[in-house]
Amino acid sequence: MHELSVTQNILEIALRHAQEAGAVRIREINLVIGELSSIVDDSVQFYWDIISEGTMAQGAILRFERIPATLRCRECGHEFALSRDDYACPACGSFAVGVVGGDEFYLESIEVDLAQPQPGQVAPG
Ligand SMILES: [Zn+2]
Repeated sequence: MHELSVTQNILEIALRHAQEAGAVRIREINLVIGELSSIVDDSVQFYWDIISEGTMAQGAILRFERIPATLRCRECGHEFALSRDDYACPACGSFAVGVVGGDEFYLESIEVDLAQPQPGQVAPG
């Protein structure tokens, strides 16, 4: 259910940007998902196919980029990517770390087809 609302949100943003760019069709949607996010790729794709129907985004390819969680050391302030077997700060060895990123889900970029001049409008020669 969560995926439906975020997918609608992504579609609205993509359509707005495509219209502002003068696009006639959206070819690809590049999405970023944090490793700690509960978003499921397949659910987003499922809802996307339904809600994008009849829009210029219909048939667009969804690409998902997973980014690792980011931890921040409370002792020295060092930020580092979460590795699965070690939570300790690589700078000072402290285990007093907090999560500062990794639950993101956002639209990174879109690829569109721009409107082409109508055939016959270009004067010969
Ligand atoms: Zn540290």
